[in-house]
Amino acid sequence: MFDWSIDPHRRFNPLTREWVLVSPHRTQRPWQGQIEEAAAATQPEYDAECYLCPGNPRAGGVRNPAYSSTFVFDNDFAALKPATAIDRFEQDGLLIAESEPGLCRVVCFSPRHNLTIANMDAAALRTVVDTWVAQYQELGARPEINYVQFFENRGAMMGASNPHPHGQIWSSHALPNEIAKEQAALLEWREKRGTCLLCDYTKLELAARERIVEENDSFLTVVPFWAVWPFETLVLAKRHLASMEQLTGTERDALADILKRTTSRYDRLFHVSFPYSMGFHQRPTDGQAHDEHHFHAHFYPPLLRSATVRKFLVGYEMLGTPQRDITPESAAARLRGV
Ligand SMILES: [Zn+2]
Ligand SMILES: [Zn+2]
Ligand SMILES: [Zn+2]
Repeated sequence: MFDWSIDPHRRFNPLTREWVLVSPHRTQRPWQGQIEEAAAATQPEYDAECYLCPGNPRAGGVRNPAYSSTFVFDNDFAALKPATAIDRFEQDGLLIAESEPGLCRVVCFSPRHNLTIANMDAAALRTVVDTWVAQYQELGARPEINYVQFFENRGAMMGASNPHPHGQIWSSHALPNEIAKEQAALLEWREKRGTCLLCDYTKLELAARERIVEENDSFLTVVPFWAVWPFETLVLAKRHLASMEQLTGTERDALADILKRTTSRYDRLFHVSFPYSMGFHQRPTDGQAHDEHHFHAHFYPPLLRSATVRKFLVGYEMLGTPQRDITPESAAARLRGV
């Protein structure tokens, strides 16, 4: 008899239409529960060396204002530039290149250097959500911008060079790869079934309750059935909304709340300020309705067994298929337990 909790199998991600290999038999040893405490570097409220703290100089001599809540500025080392001319190059269908206009910004979540989403208060986090929505609208209104990608890299393990609480916004002319894959899958689902893939998935998870990690009136956090990273989560809006600008005031508070709950749970798992990359997926800003999109967030944390043991996507995963050992169901149970 095949046992889905022990035997090797692969699972399908309907959003990207890619597979993940699950090998739970490799973790048959019972969970030891050992926790390596990472040296908790205590950060000051203000760091004179931090280029994101209020009043401090940034690269190129610009000085931050003495800001008191959120603060947004154009990235000093932007990967994309708004004035880029439209151009395309193609040779024999093999060498293809396109110019890419865009705009990159940094969002400081707080003037306080030593905060994280997990330990910011509800009112401050609501201000962050309001700032994101305003940026989505402002950047999305620009004719050359067709997609606005919000993300946060948290922790040195994820390459975040500065612990100051901040995220980034990269807005671009072209659809980034991940959202292009999701859009194609969401569109095809709607054409074939007449429903929203993520509304259907939300209903399924709310009924099963096996992979739910956190929940409030407007959102739920699940370890998705097809998770690749050990403690990957998906934050789903319970109501169908295509983008963050459709959030009501109550739902903006609920988004702040679910992000705080989710990151707090992560921090408790290995008693460390949990590293991750997180970001939102929503409809493009190309002027089309794009009602096939369903607003959600992905958390991709690298940690596997402790504060220091991380997962790498290497070898078979680079050349074949991503692979995980613990099942998404057991990862969700562990996150619920802390
Ligand atoms: Zn700082
Ligand atoms: Zn939906
Ligand atoms: Zn997505």
